[in-house]
Amino acid sequence: RSSLSPLRKINSVINSYALARQKEIDTLQKTAEFRREFIADISHELKTPIFATQGYIHTLLDGAIEDKQVRMKFLKRAAKSLDSLDVLVQDLLTLNQMESGVVKFNFTDFDLKELVLEVVEQLEHKASKREVALKLEFDPEKTYMTRADRPKIYRVCQNLIFNAVTYNHNGGEVKISIKTHKNTIQVEVKDDGQGIPPEDLKRIFERFYRVEKSRSKEKGGTGLGLAIVKHILEGHKSKISVSSTVGKGSIFSFSLPLEKEKKPNEQALPA
Ligand code: ADP
Repeated sequence: RSSLSPLRKINSVINSYALARQKEIDTLQKTAEFRREFIADISHELKTPIFATQGYIHTLLDGAIEDKQVRMKFLKRAAKSLDSLDVLVQDLLTLNQMESGVVKFNFTDFDLKELVLEVVEQLEHKASKREVALKLEFDPEKTYMTRADRPKIYRVCQNLIFNAVTYNHNGGEVKISIKTHKNTIQVEVKDDGQGIPPEDLKRIFERFYRVEKSRSKEKGGTGLGLAIVKHILEGHKSKISVSSTVGKGSIFSFSLPLEKEKKPNEQALPA
């Protein structure tokens, strides 16, 4: 029996080595598969604006350039396609940097209410074009001081409000509320648009995932907005929550820490 023991030992060492190697191979295969899928996704997404631009330019070269009105129309369309290509590439770079962890977060103190007001002002034009009313709900007496990366949180609010307008119906409403709860501030973006089916709800934060592929694409989105939102909030140790009812609308929300406002006057007062 004793002579078998070293053999068994060797066997078990070999087995655990083989298992570890197999795990390594599995991880490598998964990474390779992920890369392949990513490249296939990107190529597919890049094709749309590239094909469109090519189409307009070739039509111009085939003679449409002679007519001033047609020329302007096609050049404007080509420019629009290139703009969307630019947004797509920018979003891809942002997401890639976030996923590889090279993005630095620069935390400062600011009033979240001021930031939301800026985003609403920026999106007012788009909302009014779609006859969507943007409504804000917060306590005007209060400040909502937080410590976060301001430009990145701006991006989060911009993406959420943009989607709430985009996937709404004409004449719809988007309600943005800011509330405090104990040591946190909660921002909620509620729309009364088409809603998201439960089976899609789990996947909308994946890159390029769209609920109704062609319809969402037609609305001009890159399919990367919510993936970026998720990563930004993860960088703040926060997360995005969503609840949705088809035909009724969706609610997206997130929280950030509530910072006590520093009042220099108070500090200056004698004890
Ligand atoms: P996109 O650029 O296509 O809007 P996002 O990552 O921002 O990409 O969103 C992913 C998908 O989730 C969208 O294509 C859309 O189908 C769905 N979606 C996002 N926000 C909403 C919303 N407020 N209401 C309904 N569907 C939404």
